[in-house]
Amino acid sequence: MTDWISRATPGVQALKPYLPGKPIEELEREYGVSDIVKLASNENPLGPSPKAQAAIAQLGDLALYPDPNGFSLKAKLAALHQVDPAQVTLGNGSNDVLVLLAEVFLNKNSNAVFSQYAFAVYPIATQATGAAAKVVPALPVDHPAMPLGHDLDAIRTAIDADTRIVFIANPNNPTGTWVEEPALRQFVAAVPDDVVVVIDEAYFEYAAEGLPNASEWINDFDNLVVTRTFSKAYGLAGLRVGYALSNSAIADLLNRVRQPFNVSTPALAAAEAALDDIEYIERSQQLNTAGMAQLKTAFQRMGLPVVPSAANFLLVDTGRDSLQVYDQLLRAGVIVRPVVNYGLTQHLRITIGTEAQNNQLIEALESILSD
Ligand SMILES: *Cc1c(COP(=O)(O)O)cnc(C)c1O
Repeated sequence: MTDWISRATPGVQALKPYLPGKPIEELEREYGVSDIVKLASNENPLGPSPKAQAAIAQLGDLALYPDPNGFSLKAKLAALHQVDPAQVTLGNGSNDVLVLLAEVFLNKNSNAVFSQYAFAVYPIATQATGAAAKVVPALPVDHPAMPLGHDLDAIRTAIDADTRIVFIANPNNPTGTWVEEPALRQFVAAVPDDVVVVIDEAYFEYAAEGLPNASEWINDFDNLVVTRTFSKAYGLAGLRVGYALSNSAIADLLNRVRQPFNVSTPALAAAEAALDDIEYIERSQQLNTAGMAQLKTAFQRMGLPVVPSAANFLLVDTGRDSLQVYDQLLRAGVIVRPVVNYGLTQHLRITIGTEAQNNQLIEALESILSD
């Protein structure tokens, strides 16, 4: 039999598959538990916006391919961000545009720079092209302001002549940590003009208060790319739609490698409708703020340190082997996310749910930890 692994490109040989949150159906199948709550993938516990759902119910002819250029959604996003539609690239989730960026700019002679504990898709997208991942140590766990956060100075220093892309998640997943406006803007200004800076704002809608909105800087920095998604606060993770904002030359390059029909008809329609549902986003933010306070109070009572978070999840230090706690939570019908793949063996990443979901988690965790 052929050794297929040895036939794969070296970058892919070195990769580990992305570890997704366990789907509810899988837990049902494997453990036979019911009444399951999934707090593992940072989805919106409110479900999709009713406007997005209504748009899907009114779809036209699904035998036809979707609009390959997503004209209508792009126009709306361009108006929202006050850019030209030619500066918008649509993706099958923002994961897709991250991969497109890697395909356009990276090869085996180049590297991408990002922080330790940065989003797991950056190494996957980078290494799949044969490029090197230059991983910069995160801020220490005892850092007074932003434990495990991005160290912008160290990231800046790591950029070398072979660097083509720098990935910054703000706020970051799985840590929830963030960087503030003056520091981030100064960072972008300090990166060489011909190195692409990707600022991944997947959680922007949750983090709006006080965090930088890098989409407003698109026309100030020729090398800036900002990515956003409909998977988190917009509650459409199941549809797969996200986008990048950039200068139009970069957008043109991304569109050369993009699959022609990468965003489906339902995703295009639902995303457009979701943008109109401001009330839904406000409700989502309020639910998140309340849930964040509820969980923080509970973790404090249990003596479990949390990493500061500006997103819709908390990274909690369980003080013990996280995989064991994870498994015990599964048996109690609560799916959370171990982050062992990030090298964090005692932490769990827990998505903020509804009050009832949070209570289910709190009760299960308290019972596990008191054993
Ligand atoms: C969830 C997430 C994304 C993208 O998700 P998509 O569903 O592919 O849009 C991108 N970046 C970060 C940091 C995320 O947490």
